[in-house]
Amino acid sequence: MLKVKNYQFWFCTGSQDLYGDECLAHVAEHSQKIVEELNASGNLPYEVVWKPTLINNERIRRTLNEANMDETCAGVITWMHTFSPAKSWILGLKEYQKPLLHFHTQFNRDIPYDTIDMDFMNENQSAHGDREYGHIFTRLHKERKVIMGYWADEDVQKRIGSWMRTAVGVVESSRLRVMRIADNMRNVAVTEGDKVEAQIQFGWEVDAYPVNEIAEAVKDVSAGDINALLDEYYDKYEILLEGRDEKEFREHLAVQAGIEIGFERFLEEKDYQAIVTHFGDLGALKQLPGLAIQRLMEKGYGFGGEGDWKTAAMVRLMKIMTQGMKDAKGTSFMEDYTYHLAPGKEGILQAHMLEVCPSIADGAISIREKPLSMGDREDPARLVFTAKEGPAVAASLIDLGHRFRLIINDVVCKKTEKPMPNLPVATAFWTPKPDLKTGAEAWILAGGAHHTAFSYDLTAEQLGDWAAAMGIEAVFIDGHTSIRQFINELRWNEAVYRG
Ligand code: MN
Repeated sequence: MLKVKNYQFWFCTGSQDLYGDECLAHVAEHSQKIVEELNASGNLPYEVVWKPTLINNERIRRTLNEANMDETCAGVITWMHTFSPAKSWILGLKEYQKPLLHFHTQFNRDIPYDTIDMDFMNENQSAHGDREYGHIFTRLHKERKVIMGYWADEDVQKRIGSWMRTAVGVVESSRLRVMRIADNMRNVAVTEGDKVEAQIQFGWEVDAYPVNEIAEAVKDVSAGDINALLDEYYDKYEILLEGRDEKEFREHLAVQAGIEIGFERFLEEKDYQAIVTHFGDLGALKQLPGLAIQRLMEKGYGFGGEGDWKTAAMVRLMKIMTQGMKDAKGTSFMEDYTYHLAPGKEGILQAHMLEVCPSIADGAISIREKPLSMGDREDPARLVFTAKEGPAVAASLIDLGHRFRLIINDVVCKKTEKPMPNLPVATAFWTPKPDLKTGAEAWILAGGAHHTAFSYDLTAEQLGDWAAAMGIEAVFIDGHTSIRQFINELRWNEAVYRG
């Protein structure tokens, strides 16, 4: 399982010394209590670390630079308890480079009507201080997230938790490495892109290796290791022989076991967290990696078919952002295949040739071996299942030549009306928001791909915040989308993001 670091977030409270030491002692006490309770709430995926109150230019600058340098710090949460003159923040903020949450809250929930006096007003004035602080951010054109609400409310804490996941996606983006063992599919446009620009914009390193180098790593896997993994497959999954010879079935499956082990070793040795393959460029590999890639995705690796490195990187990022989530429903590479246009039941059947991540499976998973309609290799083994129901998000990162655009679509996953016994691949079925016609029209107008990175466990807000932190355009297709407005938005964005 690919793990990301146990990140922390620093909690920095702003104030000044206008009201004396007693007031500052209260500020520190209040912010410490907030940090303690946030950590105890169970609503945050990462730990919050309290930092001494920031009251002047020098301390602000030093603390924010320490946050830049600290490898376990994935971001800073700031809150102006009292008044913090924002000129003091200019140099520190200009030098700060990690995600920042402006948490607009206050220590007391209610106005203490019976006792409130001017001292209380001076001490508890984030409604005032946070506006001063927000102003300088806007003036500096710096990206930040603003969350407003009472710190002890569960919904507020959960929003902070979601933002933390986005922040980790931002910080980890610059460590993401994608291995290409095949080029993009010939003549296909949307899976292409500028890899240098992707490294500049996102930090991704996208490198090519000859497919036969990884095929060598597969060849080196011992029979003992393969047999042990085969036993795990037979134990874990339902085997659907469908008339095939039992021994031949196991031999075919052994090829995928060898690929799984060999690929994982090669990726680990070379330090890559995502991979692309291509059914037409398999070198000495006996089968298209099917079940093997499905299981690697489940372990946290990103994947894109037909050389699609942008989607592979997005799948990995979305796996990072959802890591360790309680009751997670899954994240996968996906492809739009075919429509159901029956009135009231409209939707898109999603699959890929083979490579759908079993983390999205609902119920039993079986192994089938069937010929591929493309390529020239052995019938590959694959995991077959149907996906869970419920709301989810599908995203497509495209290269428009002078910039990237992330297209984010809210979708609702459903069961198909009937099983599809002759379809030997894992599937999902969803209706895009706001409805199939509007959703598909908007997607096509935005230039979205047929490949997507898909997750039940992220929100459009999180993906949009990630895109904003990366400095790229994001467009949302959701319950509020109307085509006329969407076309205008694309036009306006053309002006905003002129490179
Ligand atoms: Mn494809």
